[in-house]
Amino acid sequence: MKDELKRRVYEANMLLPKYGLITFTWGNVSEREGDVVAIKPSGVEYDALRPEDIVLVGMDGSILEDGLNPSSDLETHLELYRNFEGVAGITHTHSEWATSWAQAGMDIPAAGTTHADYIYGDVPCTRGLTPGEIRGAYELNTGKVIVETFAGLDPLAVPCVLVKNHGPFTWGASAAESVRNAVVLEQIAKMAFVGRTLQGGGPERMPQSLLDKHYLRKHGKNAYYGQKK
Ligand SMILES: [Zn+2]
Repeated sequence: MKDELKRRVYEANMLLPKYGLITFTWGNVSEREGDVVAIKPSGVEYDALRPEDIVLVGMDGSILEDGLNPSSDLETHLELYRNFEGVAGITHTHSEWATSWAQAGMDIPAAGTTHADYIYGDVPCTRGLTPGEIRGAYELNTGKVIVETFAGLDPLAVPCVLVKNHGPFTWGASAAESVRNAVVLEQIAKMAFVGRTLQGGGPERMPQSLLDKHYLRKHGKNAYYGQKK
């Protein structure tokens, strides 16, 4: 059942060590297909992971096949799928540069065109979870805080978030696209930090006109970047 979905999610998970986004097992990728979500099993080392180990769950978190337990972050993924229309792939890592911004509790300012090619605005950092939210349904509440952060923001235009004191989540139209956005986020997090250090407190936000130019030439109805399909 759903072998292609499992293979896609397996391959997307294996991109995390390939791109240096993962230490030990700290990360997971999922993809949604209809009312089924496929996600990495909990605590399995990447070099031991097999396509058949990927766990299938329903949108309520019910496990659809006998096998391994899903990632402990499953409820965060499900909350995002339930609330972010058009999102069909999610990646969570503790990649070093993005997590450093999350630990500082700071938004990553849109400072240059690498950022603007993929992300239409600053990368927001959530508020911290309250003690009650942490003691309660922690992973679900992490998802709720992300959804709260995106009130008034388009998750398809800003396909990433920093969870305060924790780390990044990224998403896209597929598992593979969510991993690509995790790679982009790590890179722009590093460059923003270096820019900030060089400027002694910056970096200044890029001009809105340049942000518009780079994002809108690749995305949206008048996009002209790349080859016509
Ligand atoms: Zn985590």
